Amino acid sequence: MISVAEYKNKTVVVLGLARTGISSARALSQGGARVLVWDDNFEVLNSAKTHGFETFDINEKYRWSNVSLLVVSPGIPHLYPFTHTLVKEALSHEVIINNDIGLFFSYFMSGMEDFERSPEIIAITGSNGKSTTASLIHHIISKSGRKSQLAGNIGKGVFDIEPLTDGEVLVLELSSYQLDLARQLSPDIAIFTNFSADHIDRHGGIGGYFLSKRRLFMEGNPEKSIININSTEGLMLANQISGSWSGERLIRVGSGPQKNSQNWSIFHHKGHLVEWNKSRQIYSIDLRSLANLPGDHNYENICSAYAACRILGLPPRDIGAGLQSFKGLIHRTQIVDNIDGVLYVNDSKATNADSASKALQAFKNILWICGGEQKIGGLEILLSTLGAVKKAYIIGNEAALFALNFKNLPCVICQTMEKAFQLASTEADRGDVVLLSPAAASFDQYDNFEKRGEHFINLVEELSKKSASSSGNNPSDD
Ligand code: ADP
Repeated sequence: MISVAEYKNKTVVVLGLARTGISSARALSQGGARVLVWDDNFEVLNSAKTHGFETFDINEKYRWSNVSLLVVSPGIPHLYPFTHTLVKEALSHEVIINNDIGLFFSYFMSGMEDFERSPEIIAITGSNGKSTTASLIHHIISKSGRKSQLAGNIGKGVFDIEPLTDGEVLVLELSSYQLDLARQLSPDIAIFTNFSADHIDRHGGIGGYFLSKRRLFMEGNPEKSIININSTEGLMLANQISGSWSGERLIRVGSGPQKNSQNWSIFHHKGHLVEWNKSRQIYSIDLRSLANLPGDHNYENICSAYAACRILGLPPRDIGAGLQSFKGLIHRTQIVDNIDGVLYVNDSKATNADSASKALQAFKNILWICGGEQKIGGLEILLSTLGAVKKAYIIGNEAALFALNFKNLPCVICQTMEKAFQLASTEADRGDVVLLSPAAASFDQYDNFEKRGEHFINLVEELSKKSASSSGNNPSDD
């Protein structure tokens, strides 16, 4: 746990009291600030009160005159699709607005002289693949014997880490919401995993969404940038970085054969990762045996993770060993089980069309469980990747509407996960893959994508037990 003294003896307001808000409130209060908290949800606000937090009095007339800072949580819209009232008031009273990430970088930079060997921060952003890439980097570094911590948009607030020590690495996953508001960004290494339309409503359009990610590179000014150039946005970013800084600060990653091996680049092609520098092939790894990282999209994540570890000075052989021992992440093309020759894959985190299209390209003979709350932007980009799908089993409250996206695909409107799973698992033949990759948010039926994925996993476990007992392999029969 970290305490932040920048606002000692000053009054700060923390808006939004989920994990990040509470963590920021604690860090500032331990650093000596008077912290007032606010959440529009009264249950949440009351719970914060019972935990000893003082609430902001929204009725007090001149309340903003004493406030030095407003900390806004990532879940609160600060500009689009509407500006939260407290943000509006803070803006008109010229109160500084920041978030936990901006406060953290400022805290970190002000304490640099305390280190003999400064810790290094790797920040990862992009539309998809952030968590996988961040976890992979953290895993490889930890396995190599160097101390590493993982935080940010991955379930652990940045103030909830242990204070950093000499030479350690902090791997930070950063969402567009977090990047948009952070007043300071100063990573040593920054990664752009990929780009596709998402969260458009929160950024006033796709341009706003890209700009928020671009901040990490242009305003963060990292020592090294790792850019996936498989999208036009990635190419543009790489172009701008290489134009303004020396080429040594940029590493291009992506898929396909190497286009320009003069520069430092890491690409995957035909199941192999290849590192190039100054027209020389430095190293190559066969990725096809990595069962926990299936598909080209994961190969791209591996290229980014490999690049970051190479910058840190890890030998390629150690990186290869780390890749082998990585178990994969739950809910991301997670291989749950193989029952009677049918593979069950949980990709519940595929909440948008782009991420689902990647899973659809990673497998063959797919019985596809999809559907849920549709995102703005539609399913257009996945329609060309349905070649391996035998049938779609559609879930969600608006399942019939969801089915209208597909013209020539055999579809069954199931609505519930139980029905979709029961039908798909009954109809599956040996060699098929039952894939949950919804291409939609879960909120119409579940609290979050984790709950949806857990539901699928439970159904697979039940089926596995049934299958074991019917084939006489039940351990309790032994
Ligand atoms: P994020 O943290 O950016 O949401 P995750 O690693 O949690 O990314 O993966 C989210 C979803 O995107 C999963 O369905 C996963 O299989 C898919 N995915 C992972 N890596 C990529 C990638 N490089 N490109 C596209 N989709 C990806």
